[in-house]
Amino acid sequence: MRFCIVGAGFSGAVIARHLSEQGYKVLLLDERSHIAGNCHTERDEKTGVMVHCYGPHIFHTADQRVWDYVQRFGKFRPYTNRVKAISQGRLYTLPVNLLTINQFFNKTMSPLEARAFIEEKADKSIQEPKNFEEQALSMIGHELYEAFFHGYTKKQWGLEPKELPAAILKRLPLRFNYDDNYFNHPYQGMPENGYSEIVKNILNSNNIEIRLNTKFEDVEEEFQHVFYTGPIDRYFDFSLGRLGYRTLDFERIETVGDYQGAAVINYCDQQVPFTRISEHKHFAPWEADSLEKTVAFREYSRLAEPKDIPYYPIRLVDEKTMLDNYISLAKNTSGVSFLGRLGTYRYLDMDITISEALKACDQLDDLLSKKLKI
Ligand code: FAD
Ligand code: UDP
Repeated sequence: MRFCIVGAGFSGAVIARHLSEQGYKVLLLDERSHIAGNCHTERDEKTGVMVHCYGPHIFHTADQRVWDYVQRFGKFRPYTNRVKAISQGRLYTLPVNLLTINQFFNKTMSPLEARAFIEEKADKSIQEPKNFEEQALSMIGHELYEAFFHGYTKKQWGLEPKELPAAILKRLPLRFNYDDNYFNHPYQGMPENGYSEIVKNILNSNNIEIRLNTKFEDVEEEFQHVFYTGPIDRYFDFSLGRLGYRTLDFERIETVGDYQGAAVINYCDQQVPFTRISEHKHFAPWEADSLEKTVAFREYSRLAEPKDIPYYPIRLVDEKTMLDNYISLAKNTSGVSFLGRLGTYRYLDMDITISEALKACDQLDDLLSKKLKI
């Protein structure tokens, strides 16, 4: 009997590759018409631009194993994510750095002066930030929070930042120098031929049958084991309720030349209905100048309905209880393992997704070598 993997994103691809290398036969299913899940990239027919079909994806990691792993399957070009942000009619750089601070407060402070200045602004009455807003106020104070985070976060999550966990903001650096690299990780890059090419190479094995446009629910075969990277609540037919997700709508802008001069510009004011605009030719600077046309997308965030693609797990307190119940149910269900962003209902970057899939492969080897049940 062969193994079944549900979902052809990075999680499913890494597991499929590993099993195939161990000589096992694998059926890999995806209900979409393409591989690579939400990381899917495709050359846009009208402009020739390599488009990140489900929103901008920048590969960054501090994990040597993951970095070495992805290099095996394609060439990554150096790429540094530098995000611009418009707030109250002025343009800044993010994450908040010395340029942002000096421009915003109309000053020319040194790193030391800026640190003391922001410490003065920070709300010292908040000792242990309990939510996103408290985290922001205790880090950067009221003015920067209102300018860059309050409106954007409300648009992105559809909630007051007071209702969101502090961890969402902790992802972003705060710097007192002019470094505007969005990430702190030592490795960062963009696959030269897109992410789908990398996933295609991971899946290049005679032991893997890829079946697209196929829902797991419609497959009747028996399998040795199933690795499920779809939504955990969907696997159990939503029997304990639906976990909440944000979804995204993209509005296409097509023109010639250069639309906005940068890959990503965030729109932090609440009156602007979209969160950001990404212009995809700038994700591939090595070819951008040779392309005459350009394509950009305004990104709108909203609560996902059952028919929508689930993008961001919301993880409110009520959902935590529901998730715990689904996890217990999963532990008591034999023949299936849950992985990835949807299978574990967590916001996972690509590197963490790959790292967790590789660790699952390590455990799998251990169990298979002892002929134990997975
Ligand atoms: P997915 O890529 O979601 O793959 C799951 C697959 O399962 C899907 O293709 C789906 O069609 C399929 N599926 C689900 N249920 C079924 C079923 N029942 N039957 C058949 N098929 C099914 N990460 C970064 O590192 N850097 C970034 O810059 C970055 N930007 C992002 C921007 C956005 C807008 C979003 C939403 C995410 C971003 N990420 C980024 C995260 C990245 O997309 C994830 O880490 C990655 O996609 C997770 O891979 P996965 O395989 O777990 O899930
Ligand atoms: N954020 C914000 N303003 C910005 C950028 C980010 O308020 O200009 C907030 C927002 O709540 C977002 C969080 O910071 O969800 C984390 O930012 P990141 O860029 O990691 O967001 P993601 O990759 O999830 O889109």
